[in-house]
Parts: sequence; structure tokens; C-alpha cells
Amino acid sequence: MKILIVEDETKIGDYLKQGLSEAGFVTDLARNGLDGHHFAMTESYDLIILDVMLPDVDGWRILQSLREAGRTVPVLFLTARDSVEDRVKGLELGADDYLVKPFAFAELLARVRTLLRRGAAITTETTLKVADLELDLMRRRVIRNDQRITLTAKEFALLELLMRRQGEVLPRSLIASQVWDMNFDSDTNVIDVAIRRVRAKIDDGFDPRLIHTVRGMGYMLDVSDEN
Ligand code: CA
Repeated sequence: MKILIVEDETKIGDYLKQGLSEAGFVTDLARNGLDGHHFAMTESYDLIILDVMLPDVDGWRILQSLREAGRTVPVLFLTARDSVEDRVKGLELGADDYLVKPFAFAELLARVRTLLRRGAAITTETTLKVADLELDLMRRRVIRNDQRITLTAKEFALLELLMRRQGEVLPRSLIASQVWDMNFDSDTNVIDVAIRRVRAKIDDGFDPRLIHTVRGMGYMLDVSDEN
């Protein structure tokens, strides 16, 4: 995860860069608006922390350029005073969140993590597809050959795991740890029963069969059925 910090106050810039690096992020620090504008427009970041009051090109200009160029990177802006106009302006220009200086680093870190999670949720796929089987992760719907299939929550989680790992043989122990909780005893036949149920719903009456038993190893979902 790469973060751009645009901050002209040396102490705050260094403090942010150090704190975020210690928290495991890769950071670029621009100490003036010109550099900030240049980095923001030419490099790729997962998040930009933008000071508003910059001597040359201010934070608003940078934010405006980004959004006009169609760049959707999350922006957290830092404002010196808690002015309603500033906050409104920032959000209207397309910022995602703001913090009023002075702020606690822990709060900044929490905001950063929230914005990154939100960004990741938007960019990851919402539909999984194998052959004519479709899993709509947002609506929690399963469709095969245009027919709606009803699954329980556990069955859905099981099918999602198999589809995400298409073509991989998944041992029962792995299925147990991903779909059931960690105290679940994977030696019971609950997994086999669940697989049988999912199979009956998504494979019976359809072609090709997608869920395969790999003897002595586990289960696999794939279009080919050499096993
Ligand atoms: Ca400043």
C-alpha cells in the first residue's frame, strides 16, 4: 500500500512519514505543492494525505486536478482550522475525508485504514464466474444457466471459496478453516455433507459438472473433469 503525503510543515511531514512507515506503508513525502501536484498526477497511490495550506499550489488545486483527470484515489485532507467552509469545499471537490490539525496519529491511522478498505472494496470484483455459474457477492445470489439457485449462508461461503480457488485441490482442513470457525473439527463429515448439498444444487441437471472430488485429497471446482 503506497501513500503520498503532501505537507509543507517539516515536522508534521516527517512525523507522518515515520509513523506511516512504521505502520507498514510505503510513503512518498512531497514538501511543497508543486512536487505534490507532480507526484499526485504522475505516480500511482492507494491514498493521498493532502495538506490544504501550501505556499505555491494549494491542496484544493491538487485535489481539483486529480478529480478533473478522473483519478479516483482516496484523498484525506488536513485542514488547520475547523472551518465549516473548508470542510464543505474539500468534500465538494471530491475529498473522501478530512482531519483538523492538530490531530492524534492514532486517529489519522484509523482514517487511513478505513479509506484503504473502502477503496479495496470498490476495486475488487463483485461477481465470480466459472462456466455458466455466477456468484453475485453483493446481492448474495447464485445463478447457473440463468436459473436462480438458493444456498444457505454456509453453502454460499463454501461455493465462494471453491470458485475463488478454481482449479486448486482444497483439502478438508483448509475448507474447514475458511468456511467454519477455527474450533471446527474437520474430521467430521460435515464438509462432505455440505459439498454434497452444494453439488446437488449447482451441478445436478447441469453440464458440465463443476465440483470434483479428488480422492484422498479434497475438493476442487473447475470446468474440466479429469478427476
Ligand atoms: Ca501547510
